[in-house]
Amino acid sequence: MHRSIALFPGSFDPFTKGHEDIVRRGSFLFDQVIVGIGHNTSKTRMFDVELMKEKISSCFEDLENVEVLIYQKLTAEFAKDIEAKFLLRGLRNTTDFEYENSISQANKHLNPGLESVFLITTPPLAHISSTIVRELYKFGKEINEFVPFNL
Ligand code: ADP
Repeated sequence: MHRSIALFPGSFDPFTKGHEDIVRRGSFLFDQVIVGIGHNTSKTRMFDVELMKEKISSCFEDLENVEVLIYQKLTAEFAKDIEAKFLLRGLRNTTDFEYENSISQANKHLNPGLESVFLITTPPLAHISSTIVRELYKFGKEINEFVPFNL
């Protein structure tokens, strides 16, 4: 029997409590969940990618089947490298659905063995997005309410 490995990909700039919820729920569904921080070196981030990797790793110290990796290629190809057969994504609303629908078709084309699996957001976390957290941070506002660790 093969172990089920799910890749949870994203920019995670920064990782939020919404992301944490998807990872925790995913960790009960799959043998292993890899949080993949997609890093495009030509794009500037607000939060350093190595720092984010460390913070996310310590957030899941209590879960032995969660690991955090940084990757710099197409998500569908990275999934092949790590032998992930599942792509874990979160769905907040219809905007997410439209977007996820098209990228999952593209990913299926690139990697036919990869099955996308979607978890509906936990309602109190549905309003959280990395974009909003970045906006608050830029203007010096408190972000602790939205992020599972101190930044
Ligand atoms: P990307 O840069 O690929 O959009 P994100 O970091 O924004 O990556 O999100 C990664 C995944 O997490 C996506 O599937 C997104 O729908 C999901 N996600 C983001 N915020 C939430 C939330 N508050 N609740 C549930 N899922 C979420």
